[in-house]
Amino acid sequence: MLELPESYTIAKQINEHLTGKIISYIQVLQTPHKFAFFNGEVDKYEEYLEGQTITGAVFQGGMVQINTEDSMIVLYDGAYPRYYNDRKKFPKKHQFAIYFDDGTGIFVSIQMYGGITVFPKGGCTDGYYASSSTKPNPLTDGFTFDYFQALYPAAGKKLSAKAFLATQQRIPGLGNGVLQDILWEAGIDPRYPMQDASEEDFRALYDAANKIIKTMAEQGGRDTERDLFGQKGNYITQLSKNSLNEPCTRCGYEIHKTNYMGGTIYFCEHCQKR
Ligand SMILES: [Zn+2]
Repeated sequence: MLELPESYTIAKQINEHLTGKIISYIQVLQTPHKFAFFNGEVDKYEEYLEGQTITGAVFQGGMVQINTEDSMIVLYDGAYPRYYNDRKKFPKKHQFAIYFDDGTGIFVSIQMYGGITVFPKGGCTDGYYASSSTKPNPLTDGFTFDYFQALYPAAGKKLSAKAFLATQQRIPGLGNGVLQDILWEAGIDPRYPMQDASEEDFRALYDAANKIIKTMAEQGGRDTERDLFGQKGNYITQLSKNSLNEPCTRCGYEIHKTNYMGGTIYFCEHCQKR
């Protein structure tokens, strides 16, 4: 899934390479997909986009928002955009395609599940989008330690470290992927009960979230994900499918995994004792 470091990278690439391109036509759901979700008025997508010029892109948490003069395209979660400048290489299967008048195009494919939506500019009323686009994240000034600590629900409420960081859109764009290295950096196990956490633990998590997310974004995303051009990110993940059963780079202990809260977690038992 795309998370903040990748949405940041893709938005940056769109700004640098695709601004000024004119959309000649679009295709919706060329290849059927059970878990491709289209919001808003799908029958108006063409009207909203054809003839429009790309004016830029922004990331909203883990979402990529592509702007045109009068409209916006928002890609959620597992909706992966890929740019091709050679017609011969255009993929045959895709869930959404944007063709430009210079013979290039963006093709969006859905992995497990994902959403695509097109709205008139500023007209996206979806709650998930609203939450992603307004809440502070570690790349914004509003993400202070006080703000972070106050994200924890009422004192005494039981939440694991994973549940605290990566559920309820508390921190938009921080999901089960980015989470792993943040917890490794902080020395905290994903299952650690945060109701027992000290001020120092919150501080360690906050510092790790800032450091890791910024580093991942600066390095063009994680090595487990691909960018707009299909290249892997330059950030080497400490904990991911790539490091499973490999020695921890900090202590040499073997990296293990287990299923937890509907996803795989990776951890170093030696470094993540809490
Ligand atoms: Zn270790």
